[in-house]
Amino acid sequence: MRGNHVPLRTCVACRTKGPQRDFVRITRRENSELAAGTSREVGGRGAYLCRRLECFEAGLERGGLEHSLKGRGSESSRAELLAWARTEFASASSA
Ligand SMILES: [Zn+2]
Repeated sequence: MRGNHVPLRTCVACRTKGPQRDFVRITRRENSELAAGTSREVGGRGAYLCRRLECFEAGLERGGLEHSLKGRGSESSRAELLAWARTEFASASSA
C-alpha cells in the first residue's frame, strides 16, 4: 500500500481536523492586524479556521484565535475579518 500523507490542520474554533485546503489561515501581524489568506509573505503566527461563518464567529469572539495567535487582533481587523467571513460564507449560515 502506498502512503498518501496529507498534512492536517486543526480549526482553532471547533477542533475539526482536515487538509489545509479546507481551512482559512489567519495571521496576526506585528501591528496586531489580523489577516485571512494563505499568502506566504504574510509572516507571523498563523492559525486555521474552517471555511464556516460559525467558526469565524467562535474563533474571534470566544478567543480561540486569540489563544493560538498569542494575542488579540485589533478591534478593527477583527470586525473586518468577521465582515469578510459573513460575505464569504453567508450561505452556510442560518442567521
Ligand atoms: Zn471549525
